[in-house]
Amino acid sequence: MDIFGLFKNISPFVKPYRSLVIITLILTLISSLMLQVNAIVLDKAVDAINALLGTDFTWHQAARILTIISVVLLGKEVVLTGVTFGQNYFGEKMRIYVSRDLSQSVIDKVLSFKMAYFSSEDNATGKVQARIDQGVSSISRTVQNFFIDLLPLFTSALLALILMFAANFYVGLVGLSVVPVYFWITWRQARRLKGWRREMRSYRESKSQGIKNIVDSINVIKSFNREIIESKKQLELQNQVTDNQLKTRQVSFYYAGVKSFVKQIGTVLIIILTSYLVLIEYPGMTIGKIMYHVMLFGIVISPITQLQRIFDDVNDALIYAEGFFDILNCNDQIEPSGTYRPEKIRGKFEMKDVDFSYPNGNKALTDVNLTIEPDVITALVGLSGAGKSTVVNLLDKFYEPQSGTILLDGVDLREYDTQYLRDNIGLVLQKNHIFDGTIEENIRYGKPDATHEEIVEAAKKSYIYDQIMELPNQFESKASDLSGGQQQRIAIARMFLKNPPIIFLDEPTASLDAIATEQIKNSIDAIKKDRTVIIISHNISQIIDSDMIYALQHGRVEESGNPDEIYKKGGIYKDIIDASARSLNIGKIAKTLESSTS
Ligand code: ADP
Repeated sequence: MDIFGLFKNISPFVKPYRSLVIITLILTLISSLMLQVNAIVLDKAVDAINALLGTDFTWHQAARILTIISVVLLGKEVVLTGVTFGQNYFGEKMRIYVSRDLSQSVIDKVLSFKMAYFSSEDNATGKVQARIDQGVSSISRTVQNFFIDLLPLFTSALLALILMFAANFYVGLVGLSVVPVYFWITWRQARRLKGWRREMRSYRESKSQGIKNIVDSINVIKSFNREIIESKKQLELQNQVTDNQLKTRQVSFYYAGVKSFVKQIGTVLIIILTSYLVLIEYPGMTIGKIMYHVMLFGIVISPITQLQRIFDDVNDALIYAEGFFDILNCNDQIEPSGTYRPEKIRGKFEMKDVDFSYPNGNKALTDVNLTIEPDVITALVGLSGAGKSTVVNLLDKFYEPQSGTILLDGVDLREYDTQYLRDNIGLVLQKNHIFDGTIEENIRYGKPDATHEEIVEAAKKSYIYDQIMELPNQFESKASDLSGGQQQRIAIARMFLKNPPIIFLDEPTASLDAIATEQIKNSIDAIKKDRTVIIISHNISQIIDSDMIYALQHGRVEESGNPDEIYKKGGIYKDIIDASARSLNIGKIAKTLESSTS
């Protein structure tokens, strides 16, 4: 991204604050004019005092000059204080508003992306977070640099140059000639730093992801005593960052030295030239003009010495804005949606010749054909990695198949309005379903306008009510403090509250104890009427109780039918059931139960 691209992308965010921009610019102009006052006063004062010295002056005359100097300088300072305050305040206000709008638009954008975006490794949480944070802060800094720092400085510099030229053409020329030299040095510096900056951005993203990984996996790290290994992994990155920073600083200091030298040469040239002109009594050149020109030159050169910092910031912004606007302008990742919103969904799904691979190339489903009827419980069975969750992901429109069609009530799933479709689907996963917040808030997520009574009802149906009431803060307790099994029932309560016609349960009882599993099984049985229920489970009792089974292996549907039929076929389903029965030690359990009843 170049500077024009950057401003083109930023301008829609600055536009709403046009009035703030105009106020800031007017104040900028006023303060730039004020900044010239010192040089003018000094010029006039030196000449006036000089003129007095050659005469028989009275102290009254001297006091008059000093009073005028004091009043003008102090008056200017009073006005300038107010103007600078306004300039900073309105400029900062704009930066804060722009920064808020940038953050909010990128959040809205990310929320609109399809699942495939999030499953790419390049978009891991920590990396996206760093990209957004650094993007927002460096872009809003650019806005601030431009309106609060750069513009006033350059306006003052321009005015000072005009004054220099007005006083003496040759002195103005010397002042002007230093400017391109400065720009050239700054440009070279920026070019040398560019590659390192880009490298730094990727280091920063990796650092943020690294810290996130440590926090997320702290249990595993500690239980395996792998602190040293994890620390070493980060150390490598820290060293790369340090190396990069040192190289960057070295180049920056070198160029800072060169620029300071050029500035001194400029100042010396101005002093020599103005002194020479005074000595040859060039028209209009007085002793006061020596100081006047040196001060004006200082004003001309000061924005350019600051230019490097602003240039650095803008260069940072160019690099970080790239990542940021890549997210904001990325329209091909927006979740697709049709417009079809039938009055009622019956809930019959058909998958026809479906092939699907994940964005990273993992082939998950091959030539899948299956029909899921309403009013019955359909179980998807298979070993881990067989493709069961993928089927649910496709039915929920989280991903689209590469080939084949999926129909819901005879209509292509792609034609459905995505939000409408998901309003009609309840999804319970085995993890990642609790948000930061209270139990009540977490259940209410299923129906934002639910009453407390409805929430209590849902909690009762999912057999978590009694346990909630035993907590000190009851429904106001933090949901993340609950155990895995309790959280699972919160998620089920949320689904009961949503009360959708289609329900997908992906190992809903995986982390529940036997009693809770039985209770949940009863509630699910109770709600299956008039609904489509798909259950993915390794739980033998849930599988056996379902009405229709699809057994998947390596992404293909191998067998289907009701539990008895499919078992008799003697394929993968039979293997899974037999192995489950053996692992449960069903023979022995049966004997124990028998002996206790006889
Ligand atoms: P199951 O639910 O039967 O355990 P999945 O449907 O989760 O199996 O996975 C099927 C295949 O797809 C596996 O090989 C798995 O590694 C792969 N897979 C699942 N989710 C993703 C993903 N988000 N990105 C890439 N590959 C995935």
